[in-house]
Amino acid sequence: MNKPRVVTLGGGFAGLRLLYRLSHALADRVDLVLVDERSTSFAKPVLPEVAFTGTPVDHARFPLQSILERRGCTFIQAAVSYVAEQLVAPKSYQLFGQ
Ligand SMILES: Cc1cc2nc3c(=O)[nH]c(=O)nc-3n(C[C@H](O)[C@H](O)[C@H](O)COP(=O)(O)OP(=O)(O)OC[C@H]3O[C@@H](n4cnc5c(N)ncnc54)[C@H](O)[C@@H]3O)c2cc1C
Repeated sequence: MNKPRVVTLGGGFAGLRLLYRLSHALADRVDLVLVDERSTSFAKPVLPEVAFTGTPVDHARFPLQSILERRGCTFIQAAVSYVAEQLVAPKSYQLFGQ
């Protein structure tokens, strides 16, 4: 049987935190997918260092694909323009880890 697929949109602070928590809680019970239009994300707390000390911006940037693969998640680089309502609110669903 196919595992349920959970898709997170956006690999910023919120999306990555959600994905890490889901991956920790659900392990191999679901397929976790992250979609972001960019291939990299930023460690934002490092940005003031970039702005004020001349640290290269690449110091704050990290690639989404490799960090997600290490956690067994799939990364799709794409711009999301529409989310189908029935995918967000399925008629029946199962809660895990309760
Ligand atoms: C210097 C600095 C330090 C900070 N430190 C902290 C901290 O320590 N802890 C904390 O909680 N907050 C911190 N913040 C605040 C935090 O950065 C923001 O609250 C947070 O980035 C918002 O998270 P987000 O995931 O909603 O949005 P974002 O981080 O902006 O991420 C959104 C992501 O979605 C993607 N995206 C957007 N639209 C689409 C689309 N249509 N299709 C595909 N992808 C799309 C973008 O490419 C992006 O990767 C800090 C901010 C700054 C500036």
